[in-house]
Amino acid sequence: MSYFIDVILPIPLDKEFTYSVNQNEAHFLKPGMRVAVQFGKSKVYAALVTKIHQTAPEIYDAKDIEHILDEVPIVTSHQLKLWSWISEYYMCSKGEVMRAALPSAFLLESETIIHRNDKEEIDENLLKDDEFLLYEALQHQSLLRIQEVMDIIGKKNVLPLIKRLIEKKVITVQEEIYEQYKPKLVRYVKLQVSYTSEEGLQALLDSLSRAPKQRDVLMHLFMLQAQSTKAIKVKDLIKASNSTSGVVKTLIDKDILEEYHLQTDRVQYESNAVASSKNLNTYQEQALLAIKESLLEKDVCLFHGVTSSGKTEVYVKLIEEQIKEGKQVLYLLPEIALTTQLISRLQEYFGKKLTVYHSKYSVNERVEAWNNVKESKEKAQIVIGARSSVFLPFTNLGLIIIDEEHESSFKQYDPAPRYHARDTAIVLSKMFKGKVVLGSATPALESYFNANQKKYGLVALTRRYGNVLMPDINLVDLKTKYKRKEMKGHFSDTLLKAIEEALKEGEQIILFQNRRGYSPVVECNTCGHSPQCPNCDVSLTYHNYRNQLRCHYCGYHIAMLQKCQACGSHELTTKGFGTEQIENELRELFPEHNIGRMDQDTTRGKHGYEKIITKFEEGEIDILVGTQMLSKGLDFRNVTLVGIMNADNLLNFPDFRAHERSFQLMQQVAGRAGRTSKRGKVLIQTYNPFHQILQQVSVNDYDGMYKDQIEERYQYKYPPFYRIIKITGRHKDYNRVNEATDWLAKSLRMSFKENILGPEFPPISRIRNQYNKNILIKIPNGQSLKKTKEIIRKIQNSFKSIKEFSGVRIIINVDNY
Ligand code: ADP
Ligand code: ZN
Ligand code: ZN
Repeated sequence: MSYFIDVILPIPLDKEFTYSVNQNEAHFLKPGMRVAVQFGKSKVYAALVTKIHQTAPEIYDAKDIEHILDEVPIVTSHQLKLWSWISEYYMCSKGEVMRAALPSAFLLESETIIHRNDKEEIDENLLKDDEFLLYEALQHQSLLRIQEVMDIIGKKNVLPLIKRLIEKKVITVQEEIYEQYKPKLVRYVKLQVSYTSEEGLQALLDSLSRAPKQRDVLMHLFMLQAQSTKAIKVKDLIKASNSTSGVVKTLIDKDILEEYHLQTDRVQYESNAVASSKNLNTYQEQALLAIKESLLEKDVCLFHGVTSSGKTEVYVKLIEEQIKEGKQVLYLLPEIALTTQLISRLQEYFGKKLTVYHSKYSVNERVEAWNNVKESKEKAQIVIGARSSVFLPFTNLGLIIIDEEHESSFKQYDPAPRYHARDTAIVLSKMFKGKVVLGSATPALESYFNANQKKYGLVALTRRYGNVLMPDINLVDLKTKYKRKEMKGHFSDTLLKAIEEALKEGEQIILFQNRRGYSPVVECNTCGHSPQCPNCDVSLTYHNYRNQLRCHYCGYHIAMLQKCQACGSHELTTKGFGTEQIENELRELFPEHNIGRMDQDTTRGKHGYEKIITKFEEGEIDILVGTQMLSKGLDFRNVTLVGIMNADNLLNFPDFRAHERSFQLMQQVAGRAGRTSKRGKVLIQTYNPFHQILQQVSVNDYDGMYKDQIEERYQYKYPPFYRIIKITGRHKDYNRVNEATDWLAKSLRMSFKENILGPEFPPISRIRNQYNKNILIKIPNGQSLKKTKEIIRKIQNSFKSIKEFSGVRIIINVDNY
């Protein structure tokens, strides 16, 4: 009888592979476990088992596996189902999903080397047969690789054996077994057993009469022991006795104290004290009831609550109910780094039940979170995270909250899987028969449309908490301001006056500019040349602080030029402006005040955002300039004025979602103003004050915006009326991309006729020396999505067999955002 397993390999190939295993392995293995397998000539991968069976593959001879990596499944059957859905819906391989889904520690296999432990006397009689084999082998060789261990023992599952030998102190391993994941060990101490009797203790203290420092440490150890039954950390002992690690080490060396280690989680929250959640006001209470009612009938409810209406407090109540029932909750956020405020708020309520799943966390921290979720531990009952947390191994998920559901960063753009976390979360929730709440002050058109179609429930909350008025939004016409010379730098007199007033009242100000750097274009006054990135089709942005020209697409940078590269003229000017220039102007206009800046350049590093946000909260910054980072759910008490420096470059973006996005962004930024008693003020500077979107922003008219935009989407055949799939051809050779995408478009047109647009170069067609050209497939509602994808797949396959096009990458983006 022969046995086989199907596995997913973490590579872009679109199928599963079959390997052969022996009977024991077949009985041991379960779907969701990992095995190390060879693929290609020499590469070894961690592959995930999906099926154990007895059918040999037809076209190839199944290779043996190298070894088994897990003792229990690390991936659940729900997850495997979700991976399949993602790979089918978003047209990518399951291996690509696997890569995105697993913490990297699960993917990489480091080489493990086993050493003989020379420090220990080993009693050979205590070793089992297989243990002895390895022990003996190590008498001849000082180190062994895993492969060699398997050869010696004659089986592939050697992990338990190695673990036993480590425990018996026969061997040590360099690097942890197979994985990068290292449990964090905390040092503890206790008194050696020989001294625990009363006489022993007395003798010990007497013997230390001339070592008062050591004696002191011991006395404190007893005190700590008397205070609690908990194990005593070395760190705490040192602190309590005001001693040093040297003294403790002496005691350990003298065999008076015994040192031991216990595993702990890296991320731990201090707070034990849990605050009770806030009482809702009448409007919040009504909203909460309406959401619960709608969820009795529907799986998804859209919660449309204006900025600062107190949506978070409503979520908290929903979460509390799930916790009471022992269910897990997932709280999805667009960008976790920007939400320290929210996290600490939730920590106050839920304390240790909250786990944050964070891309900035280390490999190890992510593995710990993964395991806690899988084991349904209390400390991971609520998970808060960005889009990749939909991949966690939930077992009992009752509710998913998707905060700021309109945010486009929920869609992964590159690499595959190009999934939308909101839509994926809805699929995930169905598997558990759970519920989803989508929350936003400016819902995505698609979501609002679904609510109007009664596919989702809809609940509105139109009042700000504490009856604070919505901010007063005014448009400032830059054309007339420039004509009348009422501008100072990039500030209109209207905006300047408002800033002065706010500062005089001791209030804070937020200024929004969509670009970072000093100015996006440098131009020669003599010949008009402007320096371009050699790798991308964009001009280089001038950064004044570093005196550099930088490309925002590939990171290329050079020192600022002294003269024109084309004609040698020294007359270089800058055009357009970014956050850095605004910051500089502010420093000159308001030298007495503190100016801060929040953009990609000032928020690098693990705590980059937190530092700036805290400074602003603490009042160390009076005026904060920033990019769209400022729009994301921040709650500052003392901000009364928000200025948008230039609305036009948002509106003019060539994308069918540009108007919707501009509305959302400006409403969100405006929503930062006036969150307490005083009504906030918002000034939007623009050359087009009569633009429909700006008019709608200024009167807070979401419904009007929705009606206009949905009408346009209908007319021009865009989502939600048509689905879209974008196909991009990419290659470093311009002609190749042209020919390849022409061929693709022609083939697609045979099936889809006028519903194929392009091929067309995007506004920035070359990035990192690769040309991109796009084809858009529009799929009407009645057309089968499945068949459409099958046709695309077929065309893609024939494309791959054409020699001239080899090397041209095809990137498929379903529901392109
Ligand atoms: P949103 O998420 O809708 O923008 P938040 O939940 O951030 O609004 O609430 C805005 C502010 O009002 C926060 O500072 C919050 O603490 C406060 N708040 C909201 N609801 C309550 C309540 N029921 N009791 C006390 N404070 C509240
Ligand atoms: Zn020139
Ligand atoms: Zn570049």
